[in-house]
Amino acid sequence: MSLDDELMATLGFDSLAVRAGQHRTNEAEHSEPMFLTSSFVFDSAAQAAARFGGSEPGNIYSRFTNPTVRTFEQRLAALEGGERAVATSSGMAAILATCLALLQAGDHVVCSRSVFGTTNVLFEKYMKKFGVQTTFVSLTDVSAWQSAITAQTKLFFLETPSNPLCEIADIPALATLAHQHGILLAVDNCFCTPALQKPLELGADIVIHSATKYIDGQGRCMGGAVVGRQKEMEEVFGVVRTCGPTMSAFNAWVFLKGLETLRLRMNAHADSALVMAQWLAARPEVAKVHYAGLASHPQHELARRQQSKFGGVLSFELNGGREAAWAFIDGTKLMSITANLGDAKTTITHPATTTHGRLSPEAKAAAGITEGLIRIAVGLEDVADLLKDCERGFAALG
Ligand SMILES: *Cc1c(COP(=O)(O)O)cnc(C)c1O
Repeated sequence: MSLDDELMATLGFDSLAVRAGQHRTNEAEHSEPMFLTSSFVFDSAAQAAARFGGSEPGNIYSRFTNPTVRTFEQRLAALEGGERAVATSSGMAAILATCLALLQAGDHVVCSRSVFGTTNVLFEKYMKKFGVQTTFVSLTDVSAWQSAITAQTKLFFLETPSNPLCEIADIPALATLAHQHGILLAVDNCFCTPALQKPLELGADIVIHSATKYIDGQGRCMGGAVVGRQKEMEEVFGVVRTCGPTMSAFNAWVFLKGLETLRLRMNAHADSALVMAQWLAARPEVAKVHYAGLASHPQHELARRQQSKFGGVLSFELNGGREAAWAFIDGTKLMSITANLGDAKTTITHPATTTHGRLSPEAKAAAGITEGLIRIAVGLEDVADLLKDCERGFAALG
C-alpha cells in the first residue's frame, strides 16, 4: 500500500521527506523495510516471462529493481520536484551514468572550471577517450558559457555553490542560454540539496547528487542519484541496468532515512556556517572569508534568490600562507582533519595540498586556491564549541 497520488500532490517538502515513496508490505511495518535480496521469485514460468518481457511490472533482480532503492528514488524525486530519480553506487557513478546516457562520440560539453576534482578528471580524461570534448569555463561568467558553445554542444555541467570558494552560478540565466541552443543543463546539487535549492524549478534539466554527503549526513555510505524528466531518466536507468553502477539496498535504506531529517540538518548546518563566517570575517588574522551568506560576497543577492539558506561549507584565507594554514589546522582539537563534507562532524581541510593538490601552481592561482586557504564543512556540534576550536587554531599561529 502506498499513499495515494492525489494526497501526495498536496504535501509540502517536510511531509514528502517523511512519507514519499513508502510502499508498505503485508506485514504492515511502520518504518520502511530493507530488501536485502539480489533476486525475486515469480509465481509461475509465465509470470517470469511477463516480467522479463516488460508486459508486467514488478521486481526481477536488484541490479535494476529493488523496492528499498525505489523508495529512495521516489522520495528524492518528490523533494527535487523531478518526474523520476535514478539511484547509483556513488556520486561519480551518477555523473558517469548521465554522460553515458546523454552523450556520444563527437559531442561537446561545457563545464564549470570549479567542479569537484574527480568530475574534472572524468570529463578531461575518460570522456575524452570516448570522443567527447569538454571546454572548462568560469562558473559565474555567463558570456564565457555562451562563447564556448559549438554546434556539437549537448550538455552544460556545473556545481553551485562551488567548492571551496562558494561561487554561485546563475541557474536561470544558464538554463535560458542552454535551451536557446538545444543544450541540457545538469546541476550537481550536492552542496545545497533540495532542502536549500531546487535547480529543476530554476530551469535546470537534470540534478546530480552525491548522496554520500548531506543526504546520508553522517558519513557512513557511498551513493548517488540523477533526477529529471522521465525521458532522460529512462536513458540513465538503462545505463544503470546495463552497466551496473547500482545502489545497494542497505545504502538506499540509510539514505531514505537521511532524507527524513534533511531539511532540519541543512538548516542547522547553514545557520552555524553563517555564524562562523561572520565571526571569522571580524578576525584580523583572516584576509578573506568565502561564504555566500555574507553581504560582502559578490553573488550574495543571487544566492538569496535561488537558495533558501547559504549552505554548510565555507572557506577563509589566512595571512601567512601554508605555514599559517597548517598551524591553524593542527591547532584545532574538535574538528576532524579530513577532506569529506556533509557530515554531522565538522571537517577542516587545506585544499591546496589535498583536494586541489593535483592542480599546477598556475591552475591553483587561476582557481583562487591559495596556500593560506582553509575549508570548513560545518557540522552539527554547538557552534560555540566550534568557535572555541577556531580560537585554538588562531592561538597556534603564534
Ligand atoms: C563528493 C562529490 C562528488 C562525488 O561523489 P562520490 O559519492 O564521492 O562519488 C560529486 N560532486 C560533488 C560536489 C561532491 O562533493
